[in-house]
Amino acid sequence: MNRRLALLALGCAAVGVSTYQLTKVFMNSKLLEGPNTERMPLLFIGHGSPMNAIDSNPYTKTLNVLGENLPKPKAILVVSAHWMTEGSWITEMQSPKTIHDFYGFPQELFDVQYPAPGSPEVAKLVRETVADHKIHPDTEAWGLDHGTWSVLRHLYPKADIPVLQLSLHMEKPNQYHVELGKELSKLRDKGVLILGSGNLVHNLRNIRWEPNAKPYDWAIEYDEWLKSRLQEKDFSAVLNDYHNTAAGKLSIPTMEHYYPLHYILGAADKSDEIKFEYEELQNGSISMRSFSLGRK
Ligand code: ZN
Repeated sequence: MNRRLALLALGCAAVGVSTYQLTKVFMNSKLLEGPNTERMPLLFIGHGSPMNAIDSNPYTKTLNVLGENLPKPKAILVVSAHWMTEGSWITEMQSPKTIHDFYGFPQELFDVQYPAPGSPEVAKLVRETVADHKIHPDTEAWGLDHGTWSVLRHLYPKADIPVLQLSLHMEKPNQYHVELGKELSKLRDKGVLILGSGNLVHNLRNIRWEPNAKPYDWAIEYDEWLKSRLQEKDFSAVLNDYHNTAAGKLSIPTMEHYYPLHYILGAADKSDEIKFEYEELQNGSISMRSFSLGRK
């Protein structure tokens, strides 16, 4: 087990991971060559319970429609809440495996595969694009965790677009994640869809499993505050003031589901307009708020 890797899933279980093999990749980024492409939007998607991967509900149907209406990306770079590491890593393999990083769920969920290809070429391009940050290539340890595939199987059910994951360097402060997101924004002009997969309210200690669970008042309060700040493009408040209230502290007891937001807001520019694609509080304490940022 590589000690660099830590995993905290919803109902967390450690996944066996093998030692990184740090290999040099000598490949051209042919996948992204060609005429300039439309600047890709950014997505932040709340993923919630892994059960959303196999459920059919208003949230999953929204993702179905969203995927049909987005410009088709050449590659998808996902910052998932469920890949926490020391250092920043990117999956750099041809065929990333589907990781079932949870326990206590039905076999049907463990049977899910999301066989999207990877792209060592694009991974290398990402590492080269990011000049101010060191991103390590991961050629075998990780793959696609449920933060990625539970979303993508609804967004892009054909699994025919190369998918890469970028890890969360958990030893770094907030600003690191924002600045790395800012550097990644250049990839938007190369047809890469950057997707943050987390949850803007995520408190497992207070989770309610009963059907149609009533949301906590503090979860509603924080989710609404966040919505208003995002609408006003007050990203500084979203990224810095989240713990100023009791509601914020209860909504974000740990950072891993919030950090993907830092990358998305870091990669945004002034011309981007925000569109809330979905909003719901599931299980009392999980915000499924999802949004896109892009040109109208
Ligand atoms: Zn999660």
